[in-house]
Amino acid sequence: NIMPPRVIYWFRTDLRLHDSPALSKALELEPECLYPVWTWDDHYVFHARVGVNRWQFLLDSQSQLSENITKINPKSKLHVLRGPPLQILPIVVKQWKITHLVFEKDTDTYGRSRDDQVMEMMRKLKVEVISVSGRTLWDVDEVLKRNKGKPPNTINALSKITEKMGPPEHPLPTPTSLPDPGDLDLDIESQSVDDAEDLNAEQREKPAVCYDSIRGPKGDFSVPTFEELGLKPATSPWRGGESVALKMLTEYTDDIEKTAKFSKPDTPPTQFLPPATTNLSAHLHFGTLSVRTFWYKVEESVAKFKGKKSSFPTNLPGQLMFRDMYFCCQAGWENFERMEGNKECRFIPWALRNSYVLSHTYRTSHVISYDEEGRVNGQERDGEAEEWFTRWKEGRTGFPWIDALMRQLKHEGFIHHLGRHSVACFLTRGHCYISWERGQEVFEEWLIDHEAACNSGNWQWLSASAFFHQYHRVYSPIAFPKKYDKTGRLVRHYCPELSKFPDKYIYEPWRAPKAEQKAAGCIIGEDYPLPMFDEGERRKRCLDAMGHAYKGVGDERLRDGSWRELFPE
Ligand code: FAD
Repeated sequence: NIMPPRVIYWFRTDLRLHDSPALSKALELEPECLYPVWTWDDHYVFHARVGVNRWQFLLDSQSQLSENITKINPKSKLHVLRGPPLQILPIVVKQWKITHLVFEKDTDTYGRSRDDQVMEMMRKLKVEVISVSGRTLWDVDEVLKRNKGKPPNTINALSKITEKMGPPEHPLPTPTSLPDPGDLDLDIESQSVDDAEDLNAEQREKPAVCYDSIRGPKGDFSVPTFEELGLKPATSPWRGGESVALKMLTEYTDDIEKTAKFSKPDTPPTQFLPPATTNLSAHLHFGTLSVRTFWYKVEESVAKFKGKKSSFPTNLPGQLMFRDMYFCCQAGWENFERMEGNKECRFIPWALRNSYVLSHTYRTSHVISYDEEGRVNGQERDGEAEEWFTRWKEGRTGFPWIDALMRQLKHEGFIHHLGRHSVACFLTRGHCYISWERGQEVFEEWLIDHEAACNSGNWQWLSASAFFHQYHRVYSPIAFPKKYDKTGRLVRHYCPELSKFPDKYIYEPWRAPKAEQKAAGCIIGEDYPLPMFDEGERRKRCLDAMGHAYKGVGDERLRDGSWRELFPE
């Protein structure tokens, strides 16, 4: 007498109905009832750095998913449970008499450890857990297995392995119906979150209240609103949701010439609203777009084009494979998201290390100590570098290209890949000599497409700490943007105080004679900052310091503080 399956489908990295291998597996069980559920993970709500624009993207995506579920079953929707999954899942599983918990596999460092704990709990409760790969083109664990556990750290290495595995699986059809959820009674009302250290407090108008009731303020498990979360309004024009994602993909790939000729270095980082690239990364992050759907739509479009096509890896399939590569490295390198304990990441004795407001997961295993005043192992922090960091973050460096990009990042939650190159190189090996971990934290807060694997991997690449080693190739904040746009449109938009400067001075306004500054209505040093340092001199000092670091300085330099000798004042 086998009980008919009663299933919780746990949505996390896959806020969609199209091409969902995990959801398909759940439906294959032919469940008696299916509860589509999202749990408010306290890690995300309190400890991860999530800016208002990413909150908006998430809530948009949840609302659309809920609507799409209701379209195929008017009795169902996305049920948002306010509470940490490790506390809340065992309760609902018991009360709703659940037999199966199904979800898309998450290979993220934090996600993996959370899921291991959930699986252990479910084993004790005799609930079957089904976890299915679907977030990447190829199953990350399978790629690692085929490469004897070693993650491919070049795109060619990944290509070699995946050629043997065959092309990604074809997308699965969108379900046309879903079983009803069962009884929704729950006899607990509130959950307390212990020791919540709210890194997002600044984003809120009132303290976070989302755990007052598991069902939410209306008692109906509905998707939270900005009001409920007490969030300040978002500023980004980019909105989440499966329908938005599919529309954007179709519009992009309908232009078969643009899709077939896409070559990353030729897409201008100076182009914005809309950007020159697909702008689909946040949809891949939230899973409102399936990466396999993206891959095959591109393939279909490119096949129709008869002219000369761009080549791998700068073409779109190559870009998607970079994403898979970083997921593999994240899954296979220990401590991928930081410098300490990350064997593949070169030790560089940066003038500023990572923030002493460390995120929850990092704190426990850190080898260096920070005291109350933020001193690193008893050393005073570098005041000048700290000031540069703040000015970089706030878009006040006095270099218009850098400032415009940082303001765009905060406002839109998105900047072009080569814009990311520019600001990351500037902050780290190019000019400020500040740790990539500090930059990573800012991107984590402000990007709508923040993806831990891609963010850490690309910061390591740009700072020449891993993947890329030609540290002498530094992006100039003046010559580089000029190659793409001599008129400085992006600067004029995001630094409006500079909007009346002649083209000739737009990337270096401090060179404009006083009369020209007056005519432009902006005196440099008063209405817009002077450059915070001499760009050429800083570049040279950073190159020297990188040269030393590349000759091999051990971690002991960090511990005894003698790294400072390498970088004299
Ligand atoms: P397209 O050029 O249209 O490319 C299509 C897709 O390919 C992207 O959506 C993305 O999923 C993938 N892709 C393209 N380039 C890369 C890349 N270098 N690494 C990984 N995937 C790539 N991307 C993120 O998704 N999340 C991040 O947090 C993130 N942080 C970054 C930090 C730095 C310092 C740098 C230099 C890059 C970072 N990237 C990150 C990679 C890249 O900049 C973005 O994926 C891309 O700009 C998104 O725009 P798009 O969707 O228009 O990309």
